Amino acid sequence: MTVFESLRGVHGLTLLEGERAALRHHTRFGLGGPCLLLADASSESAFVEAYRLLVSSTLLWTSIGRGTNLVVSDRGYDGAILRYSAASMTADSLTINVDAGAELNDFIDYANDRSLAGLEAMAGVPGWVGAAIYGNAGAYGQSIQQRLLSARFFDGFAVREFSNEECGFRYRHSIFKEQKSRQILSARFGFSAGDAAALRERSRSIRATRDAKFPPSMKCAGSIFKNLLVRDLPEGIVPSEKVIEGKVPAGWFLEQVGARGFAIGGIRVADYHGNLIYNSGAGTAAELVELLDELKRRVRDRFAIVLEEEVQFLGFDRII
Ligand SMILES: Cc1cc2nc3c(=O)[nH]c(=O)nc-3n(C[C@H](O)[C@H](O)[C@H](O)COP(=O)(O)OP(=O)(O)OC[C@H]3O[C@@H](n4cnc5c(N)ncnc54)[C@H](O)[C@@H]3O)c2cc1C
Repeated sequence: MTVFESLRGVHGLTLLEGERAALRHHTRFGLGGPCLLLADASSESAFVEAYRLLVSSTLLWTSIGRGTNLVVSDRGYDGAILRYSAASMTADSLTINVDAGAELNDFIDYANDRSLAGLEAMAGVPGWVGAAIYGNAGAYGQSIQQRLLSARFFDGFAVREFSNEECGFRYRHSIFKEQKSRQILSARFGFSAGDAAALRERSRSIRATRDAKFPPSMKCAGSIFKNLLVRDLPEGIVPSEKVIEGKVPAGWFLEQVGARGFAIGGIRVADYHGNLIYNSGAGTAAELVELLDELKRRVRDRFAIVLEEEVQFLGFDRII
């Protein structure tokens, strides 16, 4: 029996193949060619069984979430893609258990409604909870790292659990980025007591600000390059008023080298933000990579600084 036939027999797994599995349909950038198979697991047992089948096969495979932080190559991904879409949430006093496939925004609303404060400022960050843990997502002074108590994951052999400390969080980083065999299944978060109406209002107002900057229909990945920690930069290189919470926005460097409005083919830098790059509709992943390389070259030549992409690459020779 082939691995595809075995996967078809897994209860709780939905398989997409052919055009339906083309990754441009599953990424916010709207870029990316086909993969061999896209499998959605709606339960932990289906995910674990599919993972085991894929590991024991010779197929290349990886996982994705909502696809909001991914650049997939035009030729696609020559392997299988697994998604974990279980999305249940349960609250107990000041903690919430949440499945990795829950929309981060649904999770934040769920916490707000229960007067649980701590992630309300991350409202509007798209994607699923598992990927938010993987990349230690953050916004407006709040981040996953500040609230996660523990993360459960499957490592190919067993379901295990890491404490916050064991997750190795740093700015936009966790241990799960270093060891992709560890796939997050669920997590427990701890909150402070808050006021539901005030939390909802803060989330609403932040969402409105973000929607103006990143219109919901914009084909992008948010900020494409990571901001830079001021402690890693040569002294005096950046005006002090540009430093926010110990970081300098990558957009500041990009804007010094003429990034705003710069375009290659259908891929453009926003006129109002140097670190916001989008597909205007007819762009390709090759054009995007060319544009990123050109911007990185300009910043390196002018400041002797190498910008690092926040976005994850799939199906390229450059490894994520
Ligand atoms: C308009 C816009 C605004 C954004 N603003 C912000 C922001 O303010 N702050 C911020 O931090 N990010 C921001 N982002 C980036 C993005 O929202 C986050 O990176 C998000 O966490 C990605 O979630 P996803 O489900 O789309 O992940 P995907 O893009 O599908 O996947 C990202 C990575 O996560 C890994 N992954 C997914 N699920 C799991 C799992 N269960 N276990 C282990 N690994 C997993 C995948 O292998 C992949 O490498 C923005 C993106 C957009 C489009």
